[in-house]
Amino acid sequence: MVSERMRGLGTARSVIRELFEYGRLRAAEVGPENVFDFSIGNPSVPAPAAVNETALRLLAERPDIHQYTSAQGAPDARERFAASLNRRFGAGCTPDRLYLTAGAAASLCCVFNGLTCPGDEFIVFAPYFPEYKVFIEGAGARMLLIPPEIESFQIDFDAFEKALSEHTKGVLINSPNNPSGTVYSRATLERLAGILTRKSQEYGHPIYLISDEPYREIVYAGVEVPWVPHIYRDTIVCYSFSKSLSLPGERLGYVLVPKEAADGDNVYAAVAGAGRSLGYVCAPSLFQQITSLCCDMTSDLKIYEENAKMFVSALREMGFHVVEPGGAFYLFPRTLEADDVAFCERAKELDLLIVPGSGFGAPGHTRISYCVQPDTIRRSLPKFKALVDSYQ
Ligand code: PLP
Repeated sequence: MVSERMRGLGTARSVIRELFEYGRLRAAEVGPENVFDFSIGNPSVPAPAAVNETALRLLAERPDIHQYTSAQGAPDARERFAASLNRRFGAGCTPDRLYLTAGAAASLCCVFNGLTCPGDEFIVFAPYFPEYKVFIEGAGARMLLIPPEIESFQIDFDAFEKALSEHTKGVLINSPNNPSGTVYSRATLERLAGILTRKSQEYGHPIYLISDEPYREIVYAGVEVPWVPHIYRDTIVCYSFSKSLSLPGERLGYVLVPKEAADGDNVYAAVAGAGRSLGYVCAPSLFQQITSLCCDMTSDLKIYEENAKMFVSALREMGFHVVEPGGAFYLFPRTLEADDVAFCERAKELDLLIVPGSGFGAPGHTRISYCVQPDTIRRSLPKFKALVDSYQ
């Protein structure tokens, strides 16, 4: 006998992974230049040169570099992260409230496991990163999904207010967003904060706002990504260097429990306890040092904005409805038929690998991941045109 839940998770097909694997096989058949894989969110720009240089230097100079660190992370690394957040956002952050993790996924798992008491619920806004459901349910909580507001992908506040109850332990946001590329405006965040403050008072317990921010630095000119804890006091930040430094395989991120947050000492302790119970031990030691020494820089991210501009204008010209992205590296246009799975299957026949929106809680859409070479986008456009023509 094994856990049915775990067996299910281990064998369930992930549409994204399946498409990605299909792409590899198909590339072997017809040549990689003839397959247009927009399925996965692997950064296409290399990590800054300083990352490799720092790695080599640390490997040469620090014989202790592969050792365990404190469970919450090496003190010098946490100090550098805190100093960077204070410089960049005026965060007022102290190292003792940073808990280093193996990426945003681990950060989220530590937070959900640390916060959840029997009967708790977390509210998530569609379109959303599908792993949230796995993480929340894995912590023993219930996920409530708010349908998308498809004109702007900001928040449907009426539906949100209806979902809130005394069972609400937290609300999860992800801005810039995977899969829509939307950045929540300051007005959206302020309205959200107002509701959460009022409802926390009404229910007599804090409702935490969990801000999942792996795309924080991938934002286009003129778009503001506000520092969420300045807008809502009881915010917990989950961060990752997977995208900003192009290091998804190296697994480094953190949880920040700001010192102003309600019951913050206990929340931080519970996050650490969750990390322990999940067997995380400590975040990867070498990359704690590298990312903390490089945390004020990013990969050369401007190509993502150039890709977005080229792609959005070409798709719109063909007749697609695309909400303007503000950041990240995803577009989320409406599909040309209501059945997004059928639409993506039709695209696949043209060797365009794009992901149905229903898996992200937004049927009738498709996710196009444009962290690819600009030339791949350029060469894919006739295929998109053929896809449109097939619906005429
Ligand atoms: N949250 C979102 C919205 C993501 O898109 C991803 C990865 O793509 C993650 C979390 C997990 O990121 P990490 O690699 O840091 O675990």
